[in-house]
Amino acid sequence: MQWDDSIRYLKGVGEKRAEKFEKLGVSTVGQLLQLYPRDYVDYSRPWPVASAPWEGSCVVRAEVYSKQPERRVSGGRKLTKVLAGDETAMLELTWFNNPYTAEKLEIGKEYLFYGRVGGGMGKRQMIAPAVQPAVGGAPMTPVYPQTEGIQTPYIARCVAAALEGLDAIPDPLPEEMRRKYRLPDKASALRMVHRPQDMREVQAGRRRLIFEELLTLQLGLSLLRSRGRRQDAPCIPPVDLGPFFASLPFSPTGAQRRASAEILQDLAGPAPMNRLLQGDVGSGKTLVAAAAIYAAGRAGWQSALMAPTEILARQHAETMQRLLAPFGVRVALLTGGMRAAAKRETLAAIAAGEAGLVVGTHAVLSAGVEFAALGLAVTDEQHRFGVRQRQLLAAKAKAPHLLVMSATPIPRTLALLVYGELDISVLDELPPGRTPVKTFAITGKKRADMFGFLDGQIAKGRQVYFVCPLIEEGQGAAAQMQAAADYLEHTVRPLLPTRRVGLMHGRLKPKEKAAVMEEFAAGKLDALVSTTVIEVGVDVPNASVMVIENAERYGLSALHQLRGRVGRGGGESWCFLVSDHPGEAVRERLHFLCGTTDGFAIARYDLDHRGPGDFFGRRQHGLPALKIADLMTDTRALHAAQQEAAALLAADPRLDGVPLLAAQVQRLFEDGAAMN
Ligand code: ADP
Ligand code: MG
Repeated sequence: MQWDDSIRYLKGVGEKRAEKFEKLGVSTVGQLLQLYPRDYVDYSRPWPVASAPWEGSCVVRAEVYSKQPERRVSGGRKLTKVLAGDETAMLELTWFNNPYTAEKLEIGKEYLFYGRVGGGMGKRQMIAPAVQPAVGGAPMTPVYPQTEGIQTPYIARCVAAALEGLDAIPDPLPEEMRRKYRLPDKASALRMVHRPQDMREVQAGRRRLIFEELLTLQLGLSLLRSRGRRQDAPCIPPVDLGPFFASLPFSPTGAQRRASAEILQDLAGPAPMNRLLQGDVGSGKTLVAAAAIYAAGRAGWQSALMAPTEILARQHAETMQRLLAPFGVRVALLTGGMRAAAKRETLAAIAAGEAGLVVGTHAVLSAGVEFAALGLAVTDEQHRFGVRQRQLLAAKAKAPHLLVMSATPIPRTLALLVYGELDISVLDELPPGRTPVKTFAITGKKRADMFGFLDGQIAKGRQVYFVCPLIEEGQGAAAQMQAAADYLEHTVRPLLPTRRVGLMHGRLKPKEKAAVMEEFAAGKLDALVSTTVIEVGVDVPNASVMVIENAERYGLSALHQLRGRVGRGGGESWCFLVSDHPGEAVRERLHFLCGTTDGFAIARYDLDHRGPGDFFGRRQHGLPALKIADLMTDTRALHAAQQEAAALLAADPRLDGVPLLAAQVQRLFEDGAAMN
């Protein structure tokens, strides 16, 4: 068996199981081996039954005393009970619809049980524990990310089969490099993380795999960068932004003027611009982009503006139309669901150079789109795009100037490290007259009171966003849609019986989404229940309240961005973070957000506390999704990888000497594009 063979050929995996694996991003044997454990159960130091901790799961050692025959309980489930214990306490073990585990246990023998301990002091309980013999079992077992229908023990068996079945595991790292950093070879490292003897092995294996992943990343980024650098940029001489600024209904903030000037300077330079425009939600990034597009248009160049969702693309097209049409820039909107005839016409206008600005989603990247003279490419909410997608956009022209906009603050040192010479402009000033969004963390008990308040807001003509409860990860879009519909029917409607409430979710067609959004924007809906599709950039100034259910499940930066959807039109605005999570850390996190509106401080808090979905988690930085390395904590490995990448490329610019590594670089960026 080879690294790239389909997992269908693996022992114990059929068509059905293979489909489930796909949900975890696994379709080849190699990908299976890169499904790294997210945790380990350490069987080497079991607890006595009486002192086993109540919080979380743990391993206890106990002797089996007796087994009860299986019996039916309410709901038709079959219950199997086993009585065990040690000299400190009794332990009752139960399984539902699973007689097999108990069958294998022998009375009078000792085992290790892993699970959550409950029950009282005298008799403690464990439901459906995992079991190992007290002697001769694996000292540690991995815990894998799970998805519906595939559980850790099954994944572990498949991984074992893969490790045994592979003919050879080729090592992409040159041997000198391995020796220099004292890294195990690839095959050993994989065994160490999947089937470790102890934590030391896990560490050693991980260190090697992290280094390899970061080296691949650094090589990829360096190659992408050097490609852009060699070419001449479109020439966009500096223009006077005075007339453009004067045409606005407000005056630009100092930060907006500064950022615009920095961009104009880049545009006039000999090398393509590669600039990140960073600014908190509502800081007015769109206007800065418009200024750049204005300058490009004056010099006769076309621009492209790419947004992550169709809703946002439409909104941008309207805004740009308003801002730029008076200066003769023709704005074309390109979306996935356009009619063939309209699309042909638009494409023709783009190819002929009549469209000065093309706004769209990734549809802008598709093969049929040919620009007459693309000079500037802007991507909004950059963290949603893969690096590769940005590069595809850049490939639409020889070497257009690139401007990426993001509300997600990235610490400057880290940005420089991963992006190299990407320049950064920061909008550190909000337009005047904004009042901070009043934010409250509440529990479900207060929900009814909150709805009373919402009703009052609606009576005053304001509008409300609801972000519905999140379902568990890995259950798919259909389940999330159902959750949104249930929340609307069972929570919102009964509490706001006379109000007009719309529903927005990821399963709607782009046109349907746009229609719902238009209704909401036009005030034909009082409230909008949504999955997090509204997270990104939409501007409805009349909306004054944001309600976020399951707030504990989001990183603070994500909550802050959601909150930024309200409070855009002046007047008071509110955000309710609803959570029934009992954890102290969760309470503290949410209260922190209630007390601050500073995006950087919030990102900092996420960094320091590493809550769920922290902003450097998946999908947040626009880099390919990393499988094992962590850009925030593996900084030493990142520096080493950066040095080695530079040395490798200096000696061998096309990586001919390390073909496996070169192939891996290619692949990382392809996977990254597919992820984002
Ligand atoms: P973001 O940085 O989140 O993309 P937007 O560009 O959507 O922010 O701007 C948010 C809102 O602020 C928009 O309604 C926009 O018209 C308004 N705005 C932008 N700049 C200014 C300004 N200088 N003065 C007043 N309002 C502004
Ligand atoms: Mg925006």
